[in-house]
Amino acid sequence: MKSPIGVIAVFLTLNCIPAMTQRCADADLLLMHGHVVTMNLSNTIVDSMAVRDGKILAIGDIKSLESCATSHTKVLDLQGKTVLPGLIDVHTHAMEWAKSVLTGEIDAGYPRVHSIAEIAQAVAKRAVETPKGQWIVGANWDDAKLTERRYISRKDLDEPAGDHPVFLKHVSGHLAVANSAALKLANVDRNTPDPEGGVIEHDSSGEPTGILKDTAMGLVIRILPQERPDIDERAAKLISEKFSEVGLTTIHDIFITSDEMRGYQEAYRKGWLNIRVQMSPRIGSIADAEKLAAMGIHTGFGDDMLKFGAAKMFADGGMGARTIAIYPPGVIGEPTNLGVLRWTPADMQKAHFIAAKAGWQLETHAIGDRAIDEVLDSYAVVIKELGLTDHRFRIVHAGISTPAIQKRLHDLHVLVDGNPPFVYWIGSWFTKYGPERIRWAYPANSYIENGVIEAAGSDVPVTPFSPWWGIWAAVARKELQSGQVLAPEERISIEQALTLYTRNGAYAGFEEKRKGALEPGKLADFIVIDRDVLSVPTDELKDVKVLQTFVSGHCIYDSSKTD
Ligand SMILES: [Zn+2]
Repeated sequence: MKSPIGVIAVFLTLNCIPAMTQRCADADLLLMHGHVVTMNLSNTIVDSMAVRDGKILAIGDIKSLESCATSHTKVLDLQGKTVLPGLIDVHTHAMEWAKSVLTGEIDAGYPRVHSIAEIAQAVAKRAVETPKGQWIVGANWDDAKLTERRYISRKDLDEPAGDHPVFLKHVSGHLAVANSAALKLANVDRNTPDPEGGVIEHDSSGEPTGILKDTAMGLVIRILPQERPDIDERAAKLISEKFSEVGLTTIHDIFITSDEMRGYQEAYRKGWLNIRVQMSPRIGSIADAEKLAAMGIHTGFGDDMLKFGAAKMFADGGMGARTIAIYPPGVIGEPTNLGVLRWTPADMQKAHFIAAKAGWQLETHAIGDRAIDEVLDSYAVVIKELGLTDHRFRIVHAGISTPAIQKRLHDLHVLVDGNPPFVYWIGSWFTKYGPERIRWAYPANSYIENGVIEAAGSDVPVTPFSPWWGIWAAVARKELQSGQVLAPEERISIEQALTLYTRNGAYAGFEEKRKGALEPGKLADFIVIDRDVLSVPTDELKDVKVLQTFVSGHCIYDSSKTD
């Protein structure tokens, strides 16, 4: 065995590898003969890595790391396989996804379902199996992928549902359809006014069509039956199991409820939580901001497994619901539709101020350029008034991100929670907004050129939670239905795409000192994958399989044990 001094000397002579701060000895785990893509700032690639006490002890070639091992060190011969840092998704609705699965909601999403007729059949089948009068709930339908190319209406569902109230959520999360029985239970009729920040759609005779947009969905959601009390902790367990299979080791769960936060805590207590979670509580009103501030906790409270992330607000709606707040011209075919804003500028600023003063990082959903400007106006005032220097406030989506907006993002050091998979899965929605806006839709390359930091999110259930869809789509930018490349100038390299899901994700969560790259001293969160992503053809990126996932040096998923 080499002397420890010798080992340190070897490390100090290697370029690009941070100097060892501790002796490389007594490793718990030694990975060797691999292709370890560290994702550090120098893009170092090594063949071996040593882990101790849940952290990375050393990286380098096997000769220099041999002495880290003792007789109790577990050795993993990678046989040339590629290792990456564990992936980070900064924008999920993981709880919502998991509970939809656990409660057996009808999955009306593409590619499972292709037409309104098929959805009606699924509702009819469920109506037979469901006790009389009870609710039928479903999710994930997308009008752009249905052969009828239109929203579902209450009338489509009344006959198949019989006596049952039906509520089917659109994949965007910004609208839903309720049948006549459901509207009746919710007391929604032709005279019901639109709630603030929402739209009750009407037909030409003035009757509700069943489509409820944004906050109008709440009219039905509040009367849906309560689930079993342990649903949230079971959902957290399912999230751990399923998300680790695709290589996610950290997720941010956004706009979650107090029950969902309790669910994560209970799952953690029971040892069910294997991946790291940042919980982002919701602010839907000034009163919510005041309540959050009054609790005396803020962003970062918790530990490496479970902590509070940013406080989340919504500025506008969604592209699927055609409710994003834009500058003129309006939506194609609806010239007066400039979308909805959920807050007055004064109220938004007040809520931002209260939460930020209490120590919360802010993240605000804004897709349309008008909404993004409103949020940036508010952020600018709050940053100045509070004298913040490392606020890392975030815009969630920033869907229509013009050069002028990008400049503001850079100057205010506001980060973007971008969504690379949107271009593929829901890029057809962009077309409603015209070619000029498509040019600036989710512009990943411009962000890099203009010094805007972007992290990545699936927004599951809007798109599937596997980050490989997003990594691929960031490189390819192909739209699903047309196969067209949308704004080809905005394609980025595979290394850049991985950066969004590693280093930048860590930075967005104030965790860049703990994770996001494989470097000595950082948490030993990494994945072993089935192909070399740096050299495979672009279209293979979506097919990458994760062989093993490690969190704190422990294997939490092993594909060879699940087949
Ligand atoms: Zn979302």
